[in-house]
Amino acid sequence: MQYVSTRQDKTPASFITAMQRGLAPDGGLYIPERFPLMDVKQFDLNSSYSEFAAELLRYFMEGDLGDQLNEICKDAFNFPIVMSSIDDKTNMLELYHGPTLSFKDFGARFLAECMQRVLSDKIMTIMVATSGDTGSAVAAAFYKMKNIRVIVLFPKGQISQRQQHQITCWGDNISALAVEGSFDDCQQLVKAAFANPLWQQHTHLSTANSINIARLLPQVVIYAYASLKFQAEHGESAGFIVPSGNLGNVTAAYWAKKLGFPLREIAIATNANHVVEDYLHEGQLNPRPSVKTLANAMDVGNPSNFERLQLLHPEIDQFRREVQAFSVVDEQIRFAILDAYQQHQLLLCPHTATAYFMRQHLSNTPWFIVATADPCKFETIIEPLLDIHVPVALQLQELLNRPTHFVTIPPTGLVPDTDR
Ligand SMILES: *Cc1c(COP(=O)(O)O)cnc(C)c1O
Repeated sequence: MQYVSTRQDKTPASFITAMQRGLAPDGGLYIPERFPLMDVKQFDLNSSYSEFAAELLRYFMEGDLGDQLNEICKDAFNFPIVMSSIDDKTNMLELYHGPTLSFKDFGARFLAECMQRVLSDKIMTIMVATSGDTGSAVAAAFYKMKNIRVIVLFPKGQISQRQQHQITCWGDNISALAVEGSFDDCQQLVKAAFANPLWQQHTHLSTANSINIARLLPQVVIYAYASLKFQAEHGESAGFIVPSGNLGNVTAAYWAKKLGFPLREIAIATNANHVVEDYLHEGQLNPRPSVKTLANAMDVGNPSNFERLQLLHPEIDQFRREVQAFSVVDEQIRFAILDAYQQHQLLLCPHTATAYFMRQHLSNTPWFIVATADPCKFETIIEPLLDIHVPVALQLQELLNRPTHFVTIPPTGLVPDTDR
């Protein structure tokens, strides 16, 4: 499989090149040059998740690391994916049982395993902007890897204390920068570093944001696996409600559907940052500054992966047929957290709560609520609301015992940059 840019430049790149570059030279995002319609019945649901993943990803990585895929997937996906049902037509897909307790572990760990296997003797610098969970997932995945340096930029004061702890507790080859601005500012700084010839000349720069193809492909596996398993067990297909911000996770769901996996429909739940819902009404994308919400990892006003989503449905009418989006504001997030606990004794993180809320407005057909983070990362929101103690997962407890360190920088940046 070769990869091309979402923009003008259709020069194909290999998986490894696309992964190492992160962004295509014309500023676009890499996408597979085609989506083969797969015979999904050939996949063996009795195999382990990592074997299933290797089987599927082989199509996308033949010639590039394809022969090491079994090992890569075994090392990357060493934690469970949990499917459960909460009522007759509503199911949960828990993607937060990895080392840093969000779904970001799937992509970050896969990327790290691939990157490690193609390193030269030059030191590579990975720069990553985080809205809350990417930073810790990437830091944990690359921690102590030889010849890789990681710089994480997070918006100061806009993420939960535990999220911040998980980003700043590493040391060694991981540096954390607190940006006095929003996630969009962090993302802008990463883009500026990429565009800066000085950085390009003196560092081997790459990014681990969800613009990186090697983070997106392993997320396709999640939806391929869950949709196929649900259909095998229930004889019908399910829809998926995906809590979304930068639109990486939901793009992966659309790609799985495009490959022929049985996702009946896909719904995008956002917080008060409602650019996708606006796009459905207005027919053009109007990025705006992000607003701070309880679901902070989704505080994105200019979603990078929109380009990929739009390219799948280039006509606005087609986009409207295939994409539904619903903006859930903080009051509704609080309501959903309360309701889930009272009705089902279920603890939801604020991101997952947006999907739970949206569920109540959707058809009486089977749906998955995609649960993107462990509620224990957001105890300061949940505990006062429910008046309970949220149990701390073991992975987090270990990190909370470590000391933290970070450097604060202004939103105008750490690189000399003439355009802003
Ligand atoms: C990153 C994140 C999201 C949003 O995912 P995107 O791929 O950016 O749309 C949702 N929930 C949690 C917990 C996250 O960390």
